[in-house]
Amino acid sequence: MIPYGRQSINEDDIKSVELALKGELLTTGPLVETFEKNLSEKVGAPTTVVSSGTAALHCAYAAIGIEQGDEIITPPITFVATQATAASLGAKIVFVDVQKDTGNINPELIAKAITPRTKAIVAVDYAGHPAELNELKSIADNHGLYLIEDAAHSIGSTYKGKPIGSIADITTFSFFPTKNLTTGEGGAVSSTNPKLLSRAKRFARQGLVREPDQFRLVNDGPWHQEVHEFGLNYRLPDVLCALGISQLKRLEEFKKRRREIFAYYTAEFSDLDWLQLPIERSYVSSNWHLFPIRVPHERRREIFDKLRNQSVGVQVNYIPAYRHPAFSEYKIESKLYPASEEFYSREISIPMHAGLSDNQIELVAAIVKSLY
Ligand SMILES: *Cc1c(COP(=O)(O)O)cnc(C)c1O
Repeated sequence: MIPYGRQSINEDDIKSVELALKGELLTTGPLVETFEKNLSEKVGAPTTVVSSGTAALHCAYAAIGIEQGDEIITPPITFVATQATAASLGAKIVFVDVQKDTGNINPELIAKAITPRTKAIVAVDYAGHPAELNELKSIADNHGLYLIEDAAHSIGSTYKGKPIGSIADITTFSFFPTKNLTTGEGGAVSSTNPKLLSRAKRFARQGLVREPDQFRLVNDGPWHQEVHEFGLNYRLPDVLCALGISQLKRLEEFKKRRREIFAYYTAEFSDLDWLQLPIERSYVSSNWHLFPIRVPHERRREIFDKLRNQSVGVQVNYIPAYRHPAFSEYKIESKLYPASEEFYSREISIPMHAGLSDNQIELVAAIVKSLY
């Protein structure tokens, strides 16, 4: 099976992890800071690392102080972690439909979803293609809301020349093996707002305050540390940071290959009138995480099965999040989200990752072209 997404691990990655294993500290050691520093340079904003993309979202929501009854505005076409982590802090999830072409949240539909309880607009860079960040940022600023960007798919992408991570109030990343770079499990939170970043970082480290100038209790000695707000343990260990440090050096090479594959599939499929291709706006440069094609919905299942039967590892990204039974209390009417419903009913993600060989992508393209 040619998987739709997969990690790319080389000898340098292995060496880096081996060295970390032979080091003094397996966690809370110096590689955490090195990875954070290197990531900050890459994404253009101070960054802290955490144990998953889900943890990163949870930290982002904790940092903006989500409380019971607050609302967040999110797109349905995403992995449900975007919503689950806010819901776990008591947020009410408000869905806004997506753009038909990118699958990203549609900025034109946001204003009418804003209420006095709205706290944040949460964008997802579906498939690696950045959302309409300038429009979203100005809506958020005009209404006194935070813009959070779930960039689980898009590390290495740029928007109007700026790296993803440097634009939203808080950006979250995932380093799961199918994503654009991996630490096995892992994630990161970036923000140019030092207060938000330090609150996120504390939440990921049990809420511990170790800076003497911030102590509220009497400082009894060098062992003293205190907790002002409860946190969790979302630390990323040095062993995994070692992999991240090495993977990050390869990010541009990964992006180059992902974009080559994007260009190849786009050229191969351009005259297939039954197949709709993903597009890229002129002002972005996507580090393509997925290659989402859209096929006639009445034949989606058949095409999906045919591809899997011929060893093409396909996936569907994603079932609209509001359809999950966890949202049953919301009594959401799917007809309010026609673009998301249509997107989901026709989508298939075909193999896209940096480790695909020319032979493999030629084989995938030939099989896709023989389907209809
Ligand atoms: C993968 C993913 C997450 C969660 O990341 P994990 O590292 O798997 O916890 C969140 N949002 C989106 C859009 C994702 O694709």
